[in-house]
Amino acid sequence: MPPGVLLVTGGSRGIGAATARAAAAAGWSVALTYRDDEAAAAAVVADVEAAGRPGLAVRADVAVEDDVLAAFAAAETLGPLTGLVANAGVVAPRARVDELTAERVQRLLAVNVLGAVLCCREAVRRMSTRHGGSGGSVVLVSSAASRLGSPGEYVDYAASKGAVDTLGVGLAREVAGEGVRVNVVRPGIVETDIHASGGQPDRVARIAPTVPMGRAGLPGEVAAAVLWLLGEESGYCTGSLLDVSGGR
Ligand code: NAP
Repeated sequence: MPPGVLLVTGGSRGIGAATARAAAAAGWSVALTYRDDEAAAAAVVADVEAAGRPGLAVRADVAVEDDVLAAFAAAETLGPLTGLVANAGVVAPRARVDELTAERVQRLLAVNVLGAVLCCREAVRRMSTRHGGSGGSVVLVSSAASRLGSPGEYVDYAASKGAVDTLGVGLAREVAGEGVRVNVVRPGIVETDIHASGGQPDRVARIAPTVPMGRAGLPGEVAAAVLWLLGEESGYCTGSLLDVSGGR
């Protein structure tokens, strides 16, 4: 699938923003979603356009079905959708399982799991040859937490990413004969604002020395893996789980 129209959820900051910029450089037209930070989203769209590609940003909470539908409708104004990066995700403050509240777990699952499922549904409805589409490529952004479990930190977040891994494997097999590839990228610890948003601004500095490569990853290093899985060079990959984690 050559570059076409790509929707990146959570494309205003961090890994999603790096992916949107890298995608534009690779020739994709890019629609991105954000939740709150309109200025950050506008800055990424400006970079997409500076790369010579059309871009737009939509405020959309991926946990809200109507927002997801609106985001896909907006993306389609750029042309037929052929790429999805389901990247939007949240963490929560450090807590043991015996301290969790139902409200917190529901929000994590709503954004990280329901949001990913809804976006995959809408992507398949547009890309699958079963629905008259011409095919496409989906990349889910999971986490190394899905296999590490994040004990003492946020097991509920890790479990939500386990669900994302399984969503990727199952959906890949479901639509493999319909022109749609689905793959999963599992970043390790990456330098973004997500750690501060979970109340741990020192998390990268604390954990980076324990990574076999001795450092945290950069958003662009994850974006490069996402772009490879999106594009034709990975044409025989589907249902793959690609760790981008410095050996962690
Ligand atoms: P980030 O820097 O916190 O950025 C999160 C992005 O998602 C922002 O664009 C944010 O929009 C958007 N967002 C948050 N909640 C949303 C919602 N409910 N609906 C729509 N958009 C929403 O995060 P990141 O570190 O780049 O993480 C991106 C993905 O990588 C996540 O799925 C995360 O779990 C995963 N990941 C990250 C790491 C890491 O170490 N950074 C490691 C493993 C996996 P606003 O700008 O409007 O807030």
